[in-house]
Amino acid sequence: MLINLTLSDIAQACDGELVGADCLIGSVVTDTRNISPGCVFVALQGERFDGHDYASQAIDNGALAVVSDREINVPSYVKVRDTTLAYGAIARLVRDAFQGDIVCITGSNGKTTVKDWLAQSLADKNVLKTRANLNNQIGVPQTLLELEAGQEVAVIEAGTSFTGEIPLLARIAYPDIVILTNASGSHFEGLGDLESIAKEKGGLISGASPNARVVLNADDAYFHYWCELAEQREVYSFGFTESARLYASDIELGSESSSALFHYDGEALPVTIAGAGKHQIANGMAVVLAMLILGIDFKQATDKLAAPVMVSGRLERLKAKNGALLINDCYNASPKSVEAAIDVLSMQSVEDTWLILGALGELGEQRDAIHYGLGEYAKDKGISYLICVGSVAKVAGVAFRNKGGNAIFCETHNEAATVVRPLDKKHAILVKGSRSAKMENVIEALIN
Ligand code: ATP
Ligand code: MG
Repeated sequence: MLINLTLSDIAQACDGELVGADCLIGSVVTDTRNISPGCVFVALQGERFDGHDYASQAIDNGALAVVSDREINVPSYVKVRDTTLAYGAIARLVRDAFQGDIVCITGSNGKTTVKDWLAQSLADKNVLKTRANLNNQIGVPQTLLELEAGQEVAVIEAGTSFTGEIPLLARIAYPDIVILTNASGSHFEGLGDLESIAKEKGGLISGASPNARVVLNADDAYFHYWCELAEQREVYSFGFTESARLYASDIELGSESSSALFHYDGEALPVTIAGAGKHQIANGMAVVLAMLILGIDFKQATDKLAAPVMVSGRLERLKAKNGALLINDCYNASPKSVEAAIDVLSMQSVEDTWLILGALGELGEQRDAIHYGLGEYAKDKGISYLICVGSVAKVAGVAFRNKGGNAIFCETHNEAATVVRPLDKKHAILVKGSRSAKMENVIEALIN
């Protein structure tokens, strides 16, 4: 851990009360399987587990103390109102001791892509980044607690599943650089309408350090709103029109990479961008702006974009057993990301393009309308066949058929896999759906 903390430091930061003797702690742990001697165990309350049930076990395994929301029978503990908030407050103490730059990324789509891409592009520096998708009120503190001396930049993903989570994450990570990729209807159920989503994401700007630099998407409908939230903080905008501080022109989209001219500060550079789709150019511009803010020159920054960022389950190109191109985009899905993936599928030079679509979750009342719209979008983009898995996704197939397309309805992942199994290399298959749709089962059935 970056700093030495005592239990009374923790009690003070969490507005809690120290019961028992004070001592210096070496690390902060929330899982009894990771206990190391000298740590403090934070008893988090999860959906399935309550950390408080493991408090004594933690002490037996070598923890010096526990952070708890109730009285417990251990020699030393810090009593707080809410252990999850306390975990964040402890992480903030560590964050405040960090001398480097904290970059925080939020938005409806592209957070993990931008996070991994930026961290990879900063390979000359000592960088900490969010592992996988640990982007919530547990994951963000967990990442900050991994900060070590000598690190220069922390690239942190901030996601949201309830209103107020992003402002909370901003208080914990207190970013020096904010990247807000976009707002779209990805979590209607938890957050309400698009305006509420834009407001929620904006919480990362208003909660950032007053000196923070803010990277914003000039093409997003909420760009001006976010600029207002930035107040005196300097805005670095990116987009596809000249009004953006960094803008892309002369775009050529390929099936695996794209090229464009990036314009910044009177200079224009040709850029090759790993990954297909216009959205990837937008992500690339956000990455470059963050690098510019971090002091890297324009040419060096843009050169980094040619190296592919491989993120498993995100437009990952695989080969099915019979030789068909399999595009695995099962990691998750929002309406915008389905469209982006359809764009990529439509660009493949093959005889037929197949979309296997599972349900998109968290759409609330708009669920059917959005699925219907996606079916129409796929047809408009010239997708040859749409296979819908399950009753929610079926609505997309109905739209596809109504426009004269060939839609196939399946109940299970295996059924869908069976339909496309005979296809050879003259075909491309995109598999997509929300996390909850577990569409990776289709991928597995086609590869193994
Ligand atoms: P999550 O909320 O699940 O953490 P995320 O914001 O981290 O998602 P990524 O994991 O980077 O997003 O990408 C998710 C999906 O969105 C992928 O399918 C990807 O192709 C698509 N995508 C990535 N960037 C954009 C973008 N700028 N606009 C639209 N779609 C995008
Ligand atoms: Mg993510």
